[in-house]
Amino acid sequence: MTTGTEIDADLRPVLPLTAEVNAAGHLAIGGCDAVELAREFGTPLYVFDEADLRDRCREYVREFSARLPDVGVLYASKAYIGKALAQLLADEGLGLDVVSGGELAIARVAEFPLDRVYFHGNNKGREELAEAVAAGIGRVVIDNFRDIELLDEVAREAGVRQPVLLRVTPDVDPHTHSHITTGVLDSKFGFALAEGQAEEAMKRALAAPNLDVVGVHCHIGSQLFETEPYAAAIEKTLAFAADMRRHGLNLREFSPGGGIGIQYTRHEGPPPLATFAETIATAIKGACARLGLEIPRVTVEPGRSIVGRAGVALYSVGSRKDVPGVRTYVAVDGGMADNIRPAIYDAKYEALAAGRPLAALEELVTVVGKYCESGDVLVRDVRLPHLEAGEVLAIPASGAYCLSMASNYNAALKPPIVFVRDGKARLVRRRETYADLLATEVD
Ligand code: PLP
Repeated sequence: MTTGTEIDADLRPVLPLTAEVNAAGHLAIGGCDAVELAREFGTPLYVFDEADLRDRCREYVREFSARLPDVGVLYASKAYIGKALAQLLADEGLGLDVVSGGELAIARVAEFPLDRVYFHGNNKGREELAEAVAAGIGRVVIDNFRDIELLDEVAREAGVRQPVLLRVTPDVDPHTHSHITTGVLDSKFGFALAEGQAEEAMKRALAAPNLDVVGVHCHIGSQLFETEPYAAAIEKTLAFAADMRRHGLNLREFSPGGGIGIQYTRHEGPPPLATFAETIATAIKGACARLGLEIPRVTVEPGRSIVGRAGVALYSVGSRKDVPGVRTYVAVDGGMADNIRPAIYDAKYEALAAGRPLAALEELVTVVGKYCESGDVLVRDVRLPHLEAGEVLAIPASGAYCLSMASNYNAALKPPIVFVRDGKARLVRRRETYADLLATEVD
């Protein structure tokens, strides 16, 4: 924040880099007044700070490249992807991790360099694989035995020897929400190291004439604050890779996944990215030295930590309901249709009045959405000024896994998205219309 009038210092880590209080006393992002943005584009509105996005991309490239000889930073599209973001990421030199034909289609429309795109997923369809191979996708991450068979066939038909990584589950608990834990034994993703499953998969993949196994991949979970589980997963996965030399594996690439968490609330934040990069690099270098492996190319796949903090959701306040002695509900014009995270992960957020971010926090309220579920709660128990109907409420750290999980529940219209930078707002996605809702109906 750049002005003399400071927003609560505890909120800084959850607001985008350029967030400040402007001369009007309003929250401003990228030099754009949040109340004005709400007026111009309507609410709910998602605002992304371009400076923050670019800064995160550069920080990832810098911190990992400083510690490892050959690094690729791939943005995990599942956190949120659109054409403008894909173009910005391409411009910053990042790669992309996609998990569906749809995400691949967005990458293609954005003219994203497809050799920097990796295709993940635990149940890829034949058509999706064919599209990916035909498009010249950089890597397919093999997740199961069916992937090996299907992809080998698809690659043969396309006359391609497809580079692949093999995803293993190292059975490491990263201590995050069970819905976003991916690398334990009881997971739908990847091949378990236990019981020889991963070894069998490696043998089959190495024997598949149209697959080129360039390396291994593991991913333990998302929204992680602890770095130690990464070190454990890296150690196990690289030990497996070293062992697989018996079957002819020449390890050229390794991915320890994505997953450093972001700060959503005042008092709970992750360690700095440098600490995360240091843990990963040290674990990789140490394991390689012990196992007699050359340090491979390392690809990391951050999603949340690239876009999470850059995005702020703006809502208009509507009705309120006091339940004396219990709680006060303040309702806004969005909710679980644009942000389902509180409902499915019990995710926590902060909130602030965009028109008076410095005002006294007079009351404790629960911010709810407008959808027909009691679980449609955006922020439980947050201190705010007494908000009147029509005032704009900002929910920071809304850039990741909100828009990409948005639905049309209650026939809600998905919100517009603006990118802000140097005092200019660029609409990159318009609000859906009733016509959009009806476009797929067949008479
Ligand atoms: N890579 C893989 C394989 C994932 O499953 C995920 C998320 O679950 C990510 C990358 C991105 O994780 P995050 O958004 O936490 O960085």
